[in-house]
Amino acid sequence: MRDKHQREINYLRVSVTDRCNLRCRYCLPPEGVSLAPHGEILRLEEIERVVRAATLVGVRKVRLTGGEPLVRQGLARLVSMLAEIPEIDDLALTTNGTLLASRVRELKAAGLKRVNISLDTLRPERFSWITRGGELGDVFRGIEAALEFALHPVKLNVVVIEGFNADEVVDLARLTLERPLHVRFIELMPFGPAEEWAKTGFVSTAQVQARLEATFGTLTEVRKPAGSGPACYYRIADAPGTIGFISGVSGHICSRCNRLRLTAAGKLRTCLFSTEEVEFKRPLRSGATLPELAELFVQAVRKKAARKTAPGGEAMVKIGG
Ligand code: SAM
Repeated sequence: MRDKHQREINYLRVSVTDRCNLRCRYCLPPEGVSLAPHGEILRLEEIERVVRAATLVGVRKVRLTGGEPLVRQGLARLVSMLAEIPEIDDLALTTNGTLLASRVRELKAAGLKRVNISLDTLRPERFSWITRGGELGDVFRGIEAALEFALHPVKLNVVVIEGFNADEVVDLARLTLERPLHVRFIELMPFGPAEEWAKTGFVSTAQVQARLEATFGTLTEVRKPAGSGPACYYRIADAPGTIGFISGVSGHICSRCNRLRLTAAGKLRTCLFSTEEVEFKRPLRSGATLPELAELFVQAVRKKAARKTAPGGEAMVKIGG
């Protein structure tokens, strides 16, 4: 459905768990966050019901995320349940990749179409530091497995931070030269533990692009279908893969926002930055019909803000070039 700002809302991101097996320093505090008790988390059948209701208002793409979605028991079963919904034409997963190699076969067989894998650095010691103990080799095994099982396009998400990995953007972009990998540089967004860090660590898309073009020459923009999300894509001449930029801070991505977010505890958010939520779990558990759940989507979409707002309610200020 269209919202009142004329955006076609067709994409639902579903957090299947609030748990994660890594503790990335810009994402989670060292002690982790308080986790919802098991019974508060939507069951797989409940998630499927919400997705079915979402299709009644025009949702066609679903992405499973977290937390780390691969730590959720029964994930492959959920994938197969969602893959059977005829209206869903794109079913993707965002993962840190560490558990992917051992699970990729069952996920592919269940009907998963593609993956985004987070990969902030190519250096094992840096990876261990940023994730507070992760093994970079596990992620590479996950990337290889994704390629082997043709979960195309395999996208690698890199959050660029000055003083951590900004000196690696050229090496990361080189990954697109040999394999059909799509490396996407993401601006650090100032929330949670990143709020303070972003003051010194923020690197804009324009800065990353300038660094890449100093090495590779002018990047050629790759056309993408309308409505395909906030990333802009480029290619180094003759590379099988592409380079993407997601300018969540410096760019004007809100006008192209097509997404809704369902939290693991069953609350719908219309913006990553919004704290306003529509409750789905209670209606689900008290027997709401699919049209009644769809009506909750309609109400939420009606309230979707034109632009992202900071926690205090102020429109986010554009920073960086
Ligand atoms: N565990 C999965 C993963 O690592 O991809 C899914 C959840 S994770 C929160 C989703 C993505 O959000 C990751 O690519 C992560 O790097 C990114 N992310 C987390 N905090 C961020 C921030 N402050 N700014 C930009 N991206 C962020």
